[in-house]
Amino acid sequence: MTCLCPVFAQTAEQNTYARYMKTGSEQMKTGDYQAARASFEQALRYNDSAFDVHLGLGVAYFNLQDDKYAERELSKAAEISPKTSAAYQYLGELYYRKDDLETAAMYWEKAVALNPSATDIRARLDRIRREHKTEMNFNRDVSSHFLVKFEGREQIEAGRIISRILEDAYGELGRALSYYPDKEIQVILYSGQQFQEVTDAPGWSGGIYDGKIRIPIGGIEQETPGLRKLLYHEYTHAVVRAIAPRCPTWLNEGLAQYIEGRQIDSRQRDILRKIAQAGKIPSLANMEGSFMGLGGSQAQYAYLFSLSSVSYMIDSFGMYRVKGVLNELARGIDTNSSLSNGIQVSYEEFERGWKRSLE
Ligand SMILES: [Zn+2]
Repeated sequence: MTCLCPVFAQTAEQNTYARYMKTGSEQMKTGDYQAARASFEQALRYNDSAFDVHLGLGVAYFNLQDDKYAERELSKAAEISPKTSAAYQYLGELYYRKDDLETAAMYWEKAVALNPSATDIRARLDRIRREHKTEMNFNRDVSSHFLVKFEGREQIEAGRIISRILEDAYGELGRALSYYPDKEIQVILYSGQQFQEVTDAPGWSGGIYDGKIRIPIGGIEQETPGLRKLLYHEYTHAVVRAIAPRCPTWLNEGLAQYIEGRQIDSRQRDILRKIAQAGKIPSLANMEGSFMGLGGSQAQYAYLFSLSSVSYMIDSFGMYRVKGVLNELARGIDTNSSLSNGIQVSYEEFERGWKRSLE
């Protein structure tokens, strides 16, 4: 029997809308943005005038790097609810990613005005202002996959050297991981002092990747092995981020060091053996978060453990399977399942094997 009662029909539509919204939100949480987009699009068929659905769809498109549709949906959300900060925050992200710092700052200012407790956005706004001021007089060198920015015409040759090395990295890492980012990657070269001011990076940091590769560099005139390593390292982070936005830090840093060609020397091997025999190697689960807050010597150990565990993984299972782990992480599933699916052993088993290999 068909019910034509308008009240019932409306309620049924609202229920269907709510169901799709709930599914979409859950899919967003697990990082399955494609599925989330499909759910929000379904929800939109039942109610196209709600803030939530346009925001959800906009954020899904944003994560899928589909900027055009992300902007359309986020703008629509902001139009429906101009006093809510979330849409402005993402519009700011969108323009920041496109390197339009002025428009990004404009949206983030709106977001902060509406939500003064958003201290993280305020911090990024401060940083954008510093970054913008620093970059105003920067020159550009555009190679096919990179946009390199630097200050001073005397750095033109340095910009070329860096583009060339990064193009090598693009090819080599592409072959190793069968992955070639299709979006241009930005690289910003700073003087040592500018680097500290703009990034707030800890003193031990040689470079940083935070969506852009940022490197402190002073008047390089020729390629050096150290420069090549630094660029391969930071470019690996860019590739890891492009494949799996959420990657445990030990895996990310281990891979970056492995790709830069860093080797564990005999002195470090001795140190690792002693720590392993004493049962004092920390668990990898405790090295999934950022290393940025670590002090110099703690950081050194964290990097050493990362390189050691990832080298063990590559030697034991092959780069192909390590890439498989990244693909699993990209689906938004946890580290344990990603390892089980990618290298066919559990997190625990892998960790036990690695630690045993050090003794
Ligand atoms: Zn790194």
